[in-house]
Amino acid sequence: MNKNSINKGFRFWLAFYAGRLTAFICRLFRLSGTSLPGAVALRICPQLLFYLAPAYEKVIAVTGTNGKTTTTNLISYFLRQAGVPVIGNGEGANMINGVVTALIKDCNFFGAAQSRTAVLEVDEGSVGKILPAVKPDLIVVTNYFRDQLDRYSELDHIIALLRKTIDHLPETELLLNADDPLAVAVGRGRTAVRYYGVAGERDCKELEENEIREGGFCPDCGELLTYDYYQYCQLGDYRCTKCSFKRPEPDFLALDVDDSDLLHFSLYLQNKNTGEQEPQKGNLDLHSQLRGFYNVYNILAASAAAMLIGVPQQIIERSLPDYSTATGRLEQFIYQGRPCTLGLIKNPIGVNEVIKTILPQEGKKAFLIAINDLAGDGKDVSWLWDADFEKLDQSMVSKVVCSGRRAAEIAVRLKYAGFTASKIVLEPGCRESLDVLGLQKADQYYILASYTSLFNYAKLLRKRGKAVAKNADQSLPSLS
Ligand SMILES: [Zn+2]
Repeated sequence: MNKNSINKGFRFWLAFYAGRLTAFICRLFRLSGTSLPGAVALRICPQLLFYLAPAYEKVIAVTGTNGKTTTTNLISYFLRQAGVPVIGNGEGANMINGVVTALIKDCNFFGAAQSRTAVLEVDEGSVGKILPAVKPDLIVVTNYFRDQLDRYSELDHIIALLRKTIDHLPETELLLNADDPLAVAVGRGRTAVRYYGVAGERDCKELEENEIREGGFCPDCGELLTYDYYQYCQLGDYRCTKCSFKRPEPDFLALDVDDSDLLHFSLYLQNKNTGEQEPQKGNLDLHSQLRGFYNVYNILAASAAAMLIGVPQQIIERSLPDYSTATGRLEQFIYQGRPCTLGLIKNPIGVNEVIKTILPQEGKKAFLIAINDLAGDGKDVSWLWDADFEKLDQSMVSKVVCSGRRAAEIAVRLKYAGFTASKIVLEPGCRESLDVLGLQKADQYYILASYTSLFNYAKLLRKRGKAVAKNADQSLPSLS
């Protein structure tokens, strides 16, 4: 044995046990501990992920701006339903510390991995650190929207980073969102690329006005793309009039989408050679408890990924109706005897899609919007000004409680959106704001929260009210 490998081994074990000890202490003090064990272990052995990852026969990585957590959790769920032991960082701790934490926790005391497959959510700014170590068999890209500006300077930079990273991973297959020209740009020049997309125009009247379209330029020549239709934001059926760039034909196509309440659509596996779309053996009829048009993309991506790694189609079709949402992805509670929906918001596109999902629901509504500006939320909250809060200013919305560290900024934003002062309540405290919400005489409560406040509200709602999810996702660690 040469000295180098002894040295490596020692560092590995020291880091591994330091990580496990940290995880134990976190549990003892009831801290969430989804990142700290990894942070401690990586301090001791920065190469730790290179040692942990090869234990897995299959690695799937999910990256992009929105929908990562739902897609990751759903892929893991399908794999479990197929009887495959799987590990993932399903709570959204998607930087290298979170990934390392998840893999350390998956090992037994002697350092042997318990699962055979890893499904990892990877922050778009962390792909350069994580992907070379885990060497994914499959990378799923959801979409690229403008996100937290302090962390992700430019979309171009993010996409270039992923392209540069996968240049060194020639074996990796890509599964890209065909409807997003920015996601499609990731796979240019590669052969092992599959696409998923939604067919046909979305039936949504509010779509055309005030939509944010930030990626609508040709990634090859820079020309403004021409669209036949949009789904939302820059997602749709596009082509360049100056060069050959256009929306690729999806291998996995969602058709007949019904998003009026719980989602329902058909998934067609297209034969690209014949271009046929007719239903054939193996096409799926998908029913989900999830709401919101954007979730069609998440379900579609997760189903396609699961099929690509060998999950039988019948298992996907049969198990999807029982899958309920991860924390804060429009999770349903009962609070003060009323339905209360908790949603994560972190960027303008996300807010707009959540608002579009919520507004058609019946009855008088009271909102609580809680925005923090800690590292996990993104310190720059200027995106609040790009989100379409104007749409919330309607008679059916009786009150908006503004909370979190940036409560005052939301209140100002709502005033500019046209809200009268009497509809706005300023209450920065988490418990106090929930108290105020509970006094509102509405038919439905909605809480929209940024990442770090989300879990506090989820915890309080579980304590004071009750969760109504039928079949909570077992992959999620308890929040206690
Ligand atoms: Zn072009």
